[in-house]
Parts: sequence; C-alpha cells; structure tokens
Amino acid sequence: MDKKIHSLVIVGAGPAGIACALRAKELNMEPLVLEQEKLANTIENYVEGKKLFGVVGFFKRSPRELINFYKDDIARAKIDLRENQKVVSITKKDDLFRVMTENDGFASKAVVLATGVQGTPQTLGIPGETKKHVCYILKKPKKYSGKNVVVVGGGDTAIEAAVTLSNAGAETVLSYRRPEFFRAKELNVKHLEESKVDVRFSTNMATIHNKNVILRDATDKREEIRADAVFILVGVVKNTGFYKEIGLELDKDENVAYNEKTLETSIPGLFVAGDISLKEKLIAPATYQGFKAASSVLMHNAKRN
Ligand SMILES: Cc1cc2nc3c(=O)[nH]c(=O)nc-3n(C[C@H](O)[C@H](O)[C@H](O)COP(=O)(O)OP(=O)(O)OC[C@H]3O[C@@H](n4cnc5c(N)ncnc54)[C@H](O)[C@@H]3O)c2cc1C
Repeated sequence: MDKKIHSLVIVGAGPAGIACALRAKELNMEPLVLEQEKLANTIENYVEGKKLFGVVGFFKRSPRELINFYKDDIARAKIDLRENQKVVSITKKDDLFRVMTENDGFASKAVVLATGVQGTPQTLGIPGETKKHVCYILKKPKKYSGKNVVVVGGGDTAIEAAVTLSNAGAETVLSYRRPEFFRAKELNVKHLEESKVDVRFSTNMATIHNKNVILRDATDKREEIRADAVFILVGVVKNTGFYKEIGLELDKDENVAYNEKTLETSIPGLFVAGDISLKEKLIAPATYQGFKAASSVLMHNAKRN
C-alpha cells in the first residue's frame, strides 16, 4: 500500500475523469487517476471511422484526435495517471478513503467516481450466444464487407453499428424487440433510414447457429436469417453490486444518488462525475461534470483540513 495521503483519487480516465484531473491540477491539487484499462477506453472502443457528434469545438475531429488531445494535456499537466489499475473496493475509515486496486492500495482525502457505464455487456441468455462469431463490440467494420450480419438492439450503439456495417458493404439486418425506436438519437435514426439496413421491428433472436440465426416475431413466427457474424448490442449490466459494496445510497432506478449541486454522494468526500450520474450520456456534459467535481473536492478538502 502506497503510504502517501492523496488529496484526490479519481477512478476512471474517460472524459469526466480527465477533465476532473486537469481542473484539480489547476486548483493546485495533485490528483491520482486510476484507470482499469487505458486512457479514454470507451472512446478507444468506438467503431473505426466513427465521427463524433454533439461535441462543441470537436465537431470535425475524429475520436483519435480527441484521444491524442487528452494524452497531450495529461502529459503537459504532469498528471499521475495509472493504467491497468482496476479499482475493486473503496472504504472509508478515520476520515480517509482506502482505494484498493487488484494489486495496490491508496489513501485519499476525497474520491471522484468517474467510471462511466460501459461495464459488462448485457447478454440475451439464448442458445449460441457464446459462439466465436458473436460479438459484443464493433471495432473493424470493413472486415465484414460482403458478409451477412445481424445486429441486435435498438439503442444508439446498435443503430450506429448497423449503419456502419451496412456502409462498409455488409448485408445487414437489425433486429429490435420493440415496434419502434424510443431512446435512439434522431440523427442516428435518420442515418439508419438513409441506409440499406433491413430493420426488423418486434423481433427477438431465439437461437444463433454457425451460419444463421432464428428470429421470432410477435406472433411467434420464426424466420431463419443468414448470419456470418452476430452483434449483440443491447446495453450493459449496471455496476450496482460495486456501488452497494462501497455503501453508496442508490435511487429508485438503482443509480448512485448524489447532490446535483456538488456531485457529492451519500458518503461525504465521495463524488461522482460523468455518465455514471448523467441522464444525457455525452462527452460534453461528462467533461463539465468532471470539471465541477474538482471544485467540490477543493471545497470538501478545505473544510476537512
Ligand atoms: C458506441 C458509443 C458511441 C458514442 N458516441 C458519442 C459521440 O459521438 N459523442 C458524444 O458526445 N458521446 C458519445 N458517446 C458517449 C460518450 O462516450 C460518453 O458519454 C463518455 O465517454 C462518458 O465519459 P465518462 O468519463 O463519464 O465515462 P467513460 O468514458 O465510459 O470512462 C469511464 C472510464 O472508467 C474506467 N473504469 C470503469 N470502472 C473502473 C474501475 N473499477 N477501476 C478503474 N477504472 C474504471 C473505464 O475503463 C473507462 O475508461 C458514445 C458512447 C458509445 C458507447
């Protein structure tokens, strides 16, 4: 265990964690950032060739440029960022947090949880979903040019993937269990309507075989569809267990409860920032919250000292 007492440990190096670290440094704190994979991992995992939307000032930039921008800023500010450090527990004793990773431990006066929501992918619980050609993320769409693919899901990730696969030359079917989209961004739906994707509303995937899948519609009619690859993009499993272990109070939807003004949770000195606490999960609001959390930490630490 590291003997130093940190003023701030930030868990997660996405847009929220990075903004929080940069602002904390400006406020003369020495933040330590612990990231389970690598810097901006969620953005790293975007599909190749994706354009960013909704990011003021970055509109014409690619995700790669944004990541490079983050890397430069983190290096320039000399932020202590440690990758491959998954935080497995956070406890508080004698007014100090103990933040434990799989192989180390850190003491801190304050903690910002900026872990996002991209945890474990949700599965469907159907036969065949662990087969090799079943994917839970799309990174290289060109690989599927000339192939038959089936995408499952009706959120932005599934729609973006289906459009990208189709534009890359894959015969693409999108299967969605509801009769219409209800939470997808308008722009994504527009792109879908302009694409060649064959959308099958009110269908559920029943079985995945090696070269085809069985879709079942609302009347229980079954249809066999050719599929060289299947993408299950139906969301992620909530990190509720981790939040409960920390002792955080949750709201009725099992999200972390927090003070909207300060971003402080039910545990004094433990703050949230970014997608973990946002309704509108986008880079710009996540960045703003990271920035805001740093100021709240400054005030918390000043009162504590
Ligand atoms: C496919 C897709 C496309 C998107 N496209 C856009 C877009 O075009 N424009 C836009 O504005 N937004 C887009 N978004 C949303 C955007 O990526 C998020 O809003 C943003 O990344 C949220 O930032 P964050 O820092 O809160 O979380 P994340 O960026 O998810 O960062 C959280 C970080 O915490 C780390 N972490 C998690 N648990 C632990 C742990 N226990 N210990 C240590 N580290 C941990 C993760 O590895 C991750 O790096 C997209 C999202 C997806 C999934």
